Amino acid sequence: MRLLIVEDEADLLQSLAMATRDEGYAVDTASDGEEGLHKALESPYDCIVLDVMLPRLDGLGLLRRLRVAKATPVLLLTARDATGDRVQGLDSGADDYLVKPFDLGELLARLRAVIRRHNGQASSSLVIGEYDLSLPSRTLSKGGVRIPLTAREYSLLEYLALRRGSVVSRTELYEHLFDENDDSLSNLLDVHVSKLRRKLGTDLIETRRGMGYAIAG
Ligand code: CA
Repeated sequence: MRLLIVEDEADLLQSLAMATRDEGYAVDTASDGEEGLHKALESPYDCIVLDVMLPRLDGLGLLRRLRVAKATPVLLLTARDATGDRVQGLDSGADDYLVKPFDLGELLARLRAVIRRHNGQASSSLVIGEYDLSLPSRTLSKGGVRIPLTAREYSLLEYLALRRGSVVSRTELYEHLFDENDDSLSNLLDVHVSKLRRKLGTDLIETRRGMGYAIAG
């Protein structure tokens, strides 16, 4: 899953980017509202973490302009006393909000919930074939035994599993699993797919020639 974090406090932006990358997200960042809007319109993010108080274009302005064009999920970061911002934010199309200062664990849980709901997935675990995928712990297991996966392998499997029954194009996978700074070597999708097949067998992820990859629904 790929995130955009729009936050003008450099320390907070950096620590949020680090924490979400540690969780396996591909993460792009913007430090003002105009840069944020530009990136939000340009790339297909799975969620945007959006500070309300931003230079050049504030978070609510960004959100309203984004909503004319796109339904990307948005998690707002608001100031403690700004009840009006939260009401306006939700009414302008935000999916959830957090009040600063917030607990990192809560931010990560809200992110997972927003992304899950946006994918039409009410439950936080899902069954694919003989495997159980747990979204909160980002783990895959079979018969109660955990199967070790790298962060990239897990992200790829999760993305396909949330869209099981449909074919996901290579372009879509590239756009959602890698961020703007990823170098080409780490981008080799086929390598991640073949590593997953070595661990999980060749049947789980199907190749649809000329179309992409799919997990049966
Ligand atoms: Ca701010």
